[in-house]
Amino acid sequence: MPRSEPATIAPSSEPPRNCPICPRLVAYRDANRAAHPEWFNGPAPSWGDENARLLVAGLAPGRQGANRTGRPFTGDHAGWLLYATLQKLGFARGTYDPDGQDDLTLVDCLITNAVRCAPPGNKPETSEEANCRPFLTARIDALPRLKVIVTLGDVSRRNVLRALGLKASAGIAGHGSEFAAGPYTVLNSYHCSRLNTNTGRLTPAMFEAVFARAKALIEA
Ligand code: SF4
Repeated sequence: MPRSEPATIAPSSEPPRNCPICPRLVAYRDANRAAHPEWFNGPAPSWGDENARLLVAGLAPGRQGANRTGRPFTGDHAGWLLYATLQKLGFARGTYDPDGQDDLTLVDCLITNAVRCAPPGNKPETSEEANCRPFLTARIDALPRLKVIVTLGDVSRRNVLRALGLKASAGIAGHGSEFAAGPYTVLNSYHCSRLNTNTGRLTPAMFEAVFARAKALIEA
């Protein structure tokens, strides 16, 4: 279990520990609890700075990532590149440990997921995205200084747009796309998954460029 505590946030921004809304994901959660009672095995709480101007929105927790450790992007492959990049751009401070046993803190940044429970095969169903979207909307609404949202992957991009009451077609797909969404600027990146990084679809330089742009927008 991570030493770092999840963010303290309004109840409506985070689902309850035993959120019952998605039957398939509840069954998966129960199976994981039975097999690994020492894991977190619940909706992964958002984590970071409540006054953040940058929100990073992933898709869903990995089974052995946030579902295991209870902290977004902590414990699976994606966390290495994400946290290294956030550290490089000054959005994170401290040392990252994949078990969350670290002193890492986020600076002007908060991380959440469009779907809070780990889905089988890392693939949530459309209905599960819709079920969890009110929490994403509330999460966005609860950030008083938010300026920029970085979406990791196109499913995240679409969910963020819908959470803001917009159509998915209101945004531009693809890595590095940038567009206004309500009062925010959305920057889309390929997801920092093992598949994307191992195949070279997403390089560290490409990923870093997105967060450098986010920093420039925030500081403009
Ligand atoms: S994915 Fe979201 S809505 Fe579905 S059970 Fe988990 S927390 Fe609840």
